[in-house]
Formats: sequence, C-alpha cells, structure tokens
Amino acid sequence: MKLQFIGAAHEVTGSCTLLEVCGKQYLVDCGMEQGADTFQNIPLPVAAGDIEAVFLTHAHIDHSGMLPKLYKDGFRGQIYATGATCDLCSIMLRDSAHIQMSEAQWRSRKAQRAGGEPVEPVYDLNDALGAISRFRRCSYGEPVQAAEGIVLRFTDIGHLLGSACIEMWLTEQGETRKIVFSGDVGNKNQPLIKDPQPVADTEYLVIESTYGGRLHEGRGDTVGELAQIMQRTFDRGGSVVIPSFAVGRTQEMLYAIREICQKGMIHGHDGFPVYVDSPLAVEATGIFLQCDDSCFDEETAALVKQGINPIWFEGIRLSVTSEESKQINFDPRPKVILSASGMCEAGRIRHHLKHNLWNSANTVLFVGYQAENSLGRKLQNGASSVRLFGEDIAVNAEIASLHGTSGHADQAGLLEWLSAFREKPKKVFVNHGDDESCTAFCKLLTDRGYDAYAPYSGGEFDLLTGVITADVQGQPVEKTAARRNSGRAEAVFGDLVAAAESLLALVKGFRGRTNKDNAKLASQIRSLIDKWK
Ligand SMILES: [Zn+2]
Repeated sequence: MKLQFIGAAHEVTGSCTLLEVCGKQYLVDCGMEQGADTFQNIPLPVAAGDIEAVFLTHAHIDHSGMLPKLYKDGFRGQIYATGATCDLCSIMLRDSAHIQMSEAQWRSRKAQRAGGEPVEPVYDLNDALGAISRFRRCSYGEPVQAAEGIVLRFTDIGHLLGSACIEMWLTEQGETRKIVFSGDVGNKNQPLIKDPQPVADTEYLVIESTYGGRLHEGRGDTVGELAQIMQRTFDRGGSVVIPSFAVGRTQEMLYAIREICQKGMIHGHDGFPVYVDSPLAVEATGIFLQCDDSCFDEETAALVKQGINPIWFEGIRLSVTSEESKQINFDPRPKVILSASGMCEAGRIRHHLKHNLWNSANTVLFVGYQAENSLGRKLQNGASSVRLFGEDIAVNAEIASLHGTSGHADQAGLLEWLSAFREKPKKVFVNHGDDESCTAFCKLLTDRGYDAYAPYSGGEFDLLTGVITADVQGQPVEKTAARRNSGRAEAVFGDLVAAAESLLALVKGFRGRTNKDNAKLASQIRSLIDKWK
C-alpha cells in the first residue's frame, strides 16, 4: 500500500498522485501542468494501461487535463468523480483537446517552415471523448466500493461546482488505512457553491497549499463594489469588460449581476445587456443551470426553491459563434461583456480589449488572479499601451479589480478546515502550492504540532508501515536542460559508434583488394588511432 507523488509537488499545477493498493495502481487526479514549471516531474512509473482507475477531485484542467492523454496511452479504467465534475469535464476536456490541436497545428506550420517535422498534438478530440466515456458519476456523501480494497467518499470542498475532497479507506492483507485528499479547498462565502465541508477524521492527509503562505485581502462587499463600478461606467456611457475564467468565475459574476438587477442597484440604465462571450462559458452556464441543488449553497438552493434562477436574468445575451461575438461591438448601449480567458492571454477577450481599451468611458474589470507577465497583470500594473493583434492600443479605459473573489481558501481557511478533524492526522502531506507557499505552510503545520511533510515529485510513502520510502530532492527544471544536453551527448556518441561499425564493415569488404590498398587503409586507421589516443 503505497503513495507516490508525481505532480503538483512544490508546484501549483499538474496534480497527480499514484496510489498502489493490493498490487494495483490508481491515480488521484491527472492534471496538466500550466504556466511556469519549477521542478521536473517524474514520468508516470507505470504504463497508462496498468492504471486501474482514476479518482478525480474536480474539473479544473490542472487536475483533469491529462486524462485524455492517459486514455490515448491505453488507460481504459473508470474515472470516479461527482456528477457535476463529470458534466464539467465533458465540456472542459473537449475544449482542452481543441486547444491542444490548434496549438499543434500552429507549431507544425512553424516547424515545417523551418524544414522540420509536423508536431503531433498531446491529444485530440477522440482521446478526450474516450476519456469522457470512462467517467463514473458519484454522489456527495455516499461511500463507493471502487475496487478491491478501496472504498471512497466524495465530500464537498466548496472550490468549484462539483469539487470534492476524497476520503479513502484502503484495505490490504486485512489492514485498513484511511487517507484524505483535500483537492483544492474552497474559499468561504463564495456565491452559488457550499463552503468547504469538514471531514471528521483521517490517519493520512494530502492537503493543497496554493495560498498556504498568505491571507486574502479582506473580503469586501463584492456585489456592492461591482454595482458601483457598473454604475459609474454606465454613467460615462461606457461598458464594463470583464476578463473571466469561463467555468466558475463567469457564473459567479452572473450570480452577482442577477442580484444587482434584482435589488435594483443600478439607476438609469434599465435593461442593460450582459454578454457572455465564450462558447465554453455558455456551455458551463448550461451545466450550472441544470445541476441538482446538492451542489448549491443554502442561499442559492433557497432561490431555486422560490423559482428564481440564480444566474439568469433579463438582459443576458449568449454569444457562441464568432459572428455573434463581433456583433457585440455594434451594440452602442452601456453593457457588461464577460469573456475568456481570465488573464487575457488568449480567446475572445483580446478582441474586446482591442475595441474597448482606448476609450476612457469604459472599464476593464479584473475578477481573478493575474499571473506575472500575463497581459492582465500588465494592465493591472498600469501599462499605458498594449499590443493586440499587431497593433499598439492605448490604455485609456479605467482599470479596476474586484476584491474577495478567490476560489481558494487562504492560509487561515486551510487551517480552519484542518482544525475540523477531531484529531490531528498521523501525517500531513503538503502539495499543490508553489515552492514558497508549500514550504511555508509545511513549516507552519510543523510549528503547530503536525507531522507535516512536503514531498517532491518521486517521493514515496508506505501507508502500511507509515515510513517514507523515498525522500527525493526536487529537480529544478534548469537541470532538465542539462539532462536534455546529456541526451544529445548520448545521441552524438551513438553516432560515433555507428561510424566505427561502418568502418569495420568497410574493412571487411577489403578482402581480395590489392595489398597496396589494404596496407594504405591499415596505415590510415593506425594514424587516426594514434591521433585520438
Ligand atoms: Zn481547482
């Protein structure tokens, strides 16, 4: 009974942990690495076809994004997840496949122009559909016998629709161990979804640490703040452009705007339109509208009971086709435009920025984290001009940020969730945080009397004996370049050996040639040897 850490070890993305029970292999999450890569992940030490099942905490791509690749490589087991996670993955994995395919196409064109080989996508739509066909829907709170020696239960962790922490009871040779994987722990009081639910007990815990070293800025009155921004922008005759993640954040914004409309918080601009301009956001909104109310918090469930749709109101306009998207620019009314991507790095939002940034009547409102070097961060930092589609665009619009919209618990939130365990777990593994956050949170836990450990990729733990069986050091990615160089050295050496072998073949072909030729070649070979000795 073994645990091996593969991804999101001293990093925030690429969640993946290998579990061995009764000699069979399982994965908890199978995520894609996104953004900056600090440490090298070990490759999956077992063949994809030998993975019996995957247990998935939630739909975000950094937890689910490599499932199609796993399928492509031969995985045919089941993927256990909550119903809402299954639904969200069915759109997000297809969307991810499209991204992989268009990126490969772009790289291929570039490579072929340089005389290189075409680039194969990491996976394609068929692989995504294959992975989607392996999903098995589970309900919150219901124990599931998933395999020999594995019973699991999903508990709402309040991070995204359908998100869960997974409790597991593992039995091998008559001995049972309990382990809990936190998944991404949500922030309290997020709209729509529940707060993270407590878990009573566990021997072992794997906990995320995205904000393990920080506290969120005070949660203000998000709805009030948003209403004020909308009011002053509309009064200027401008529009509010919101770069927003298609799944989760966009629906939270719709929830807030529905409340603003319902309470009549905007004056003088009745019936203002709200455009949701992202095909993925439109599909995701459909899933939010259809899901059963076990996914919603009390407030939302009460609205549903009263017959009020929590994320729908008059004025919403959904844009799916690019033609519909272009039409938005011809609507002269003050409006809200919600579009992806959330950090302005890709997607339709870039068109809206191009059309709206130059005009001082407009506002660009950030409602999520902007990574360093992203276009979103540049705008937040006060760039006076940005380059979009080969054009320099002046930034005259108001640039604003909405506070209190993180989907992750901060340090205090993580500690609060941990404190709900009746007893301290025997051991706490800290993952899913950048090096700084992960190390800081691990130290904080140790200071508070927890036996905490932050493994690097490749680290191994025996759940039966409670012993760390491989305590590996992190391999910074710079070293990967060195390894790549050593790979190149290996190739060049192989070339040399091949050259020597063809020389020997040549020599053997000299049988029967003149003595003069044979002597000449022998002498040349000897002088070559002398030269290189
Ligand atoms: Zn997440």
